[in-house]
Amino acid sequence: MTTVLALDIGGTKMAAGLVAPDGSVIAHDRVATPPGGDAETLWAAVVGLLDGLVARTGTAYDAVGIGCGGPMVWPQGLVSPLNIPGWRGFPLLDRVRERYAGDRPAAIHNDAVALAVAEHRWGAGRGLENVLGMVVSTGVGGGLVLGGRRIDGSSGNAGHVGHVVVDPDGPACPCGGRGCVEAIARGPALAAYAVSLGWTGAETGVDVAAGARAGDPACRAAFERAGRAVGIGVASAAALLDLDVVAIGGGIAQAGDLFLDPVRAAFAEHGGMGFVRRCRIVPTGTGPLAGLSGAAALVLPPDDQPT
Ligand SMILES: [Zn+2]
Repeated sequence: MTTVLALDIGGTKMAAGLVAPDGSVIAHDRVATPPGGDAETLWAAVVGLLDGLVARTGTAYDAVGIGCGGPMVWPQGLVSPLNIPGWRGFPLLDRVRERYAGDRPAAIHNDAVALAVAEHRWGAGRGLENVLGMVVSTGVGGGLVLGGRRIDGSSGNAGHVGHVVVDPDGPACPCGGRGCVEAIARGPALAAYAVSLGWTGAETGVDVAAGARAGDPACRAAFERAGRAVGIGVASAAALLDLDVVAIGGGIAQAGDLFLDPVRAAFAEHGGMGFVRRCRIVPTGTGPLAGLSGAAALVLPPDDQPT
C-alpha cells in the first residue's frame, strides 16, 4: 500500500495532505497563499504547511505528488502560476524533492491535470475514457484524460481551457490575452463584476455566492456571466475533443447550481451537435479535497488499489 504526501498550490490557498491509495485524504491542512509574496516568502509558507503536516502524521509516506497552477516547465516543475506572480520559473519540484522526498518518487503537474486524473480514476469520470477536469477558482484551469490516458501536450501544458477565448472584445486576461474564459470567470473577475453592478459586500467569491443565494441581483448577474463564459468554453472544448464528462471543482464551483445552471444553459445554447450534447457537466466526484487526491494520483500507480 502506497500513501502519498500531496501538495496542492493555488492562487488563494495552499493545501497539503496524506492520501491513501484509493484517493481518500487521511489528514490535511491548508494555509492562505501569501498575497504578493516573493519567491522565498511563498516557499516558506509551503515549508510551514508541509512541516506541520509531517510533524502530525509522520514520515511513513511512499511518494510525493504536487499539483500547481499553470503554466510550468514540465516535467521539471519550474512553475510560473499566472495567479502567483512571486513565482516565475520557480523550481518547486526540486525544492520539495530535496526537503521531503529523498529517494521516494516525486512528480508535479498542473493542478487541473491532476484533478482530471483523479476524477477519471475515482470521481465523476470513473469508467469513462474522455474527461475534462476543471478548477474554477482564483484562476480557471483545465486538464484532460482522453482515450483513458492523461494528455500532457507538447510541453506538459495541454488542457488550459481557461484560456479558450469566449469573447474577443472581452476583458484583459492575466495570461496577456483578451476575453479568455479565465478573464471573465475567475473569482476576482466575478467579484469585481458584482461590485461594478452595485454589490457592496466583501469582494470574494464566497461572499458573492452568499449574496446571490440571498437574491442580490448584482451577485446573481455575476454568477450568470461567469457561468456562461465557462459554458461557452466547455462547448468549444467538447466539440474539439468529443468528451464524456466535464468535472468542475474549485472555490467558485463550490457555489453548486448557482454556478452550474448558467454553465449548462450556455453549453446547451452553443453545443449543437449530438456528440457534443452527450457530454455531461458535473461537480467533481472526489469532493472538495479533489486537488489533493489529484496530486496523489500523479504518483499512485493505477492498479495500486485496495481489493
Ligand atoms: Zn487567458
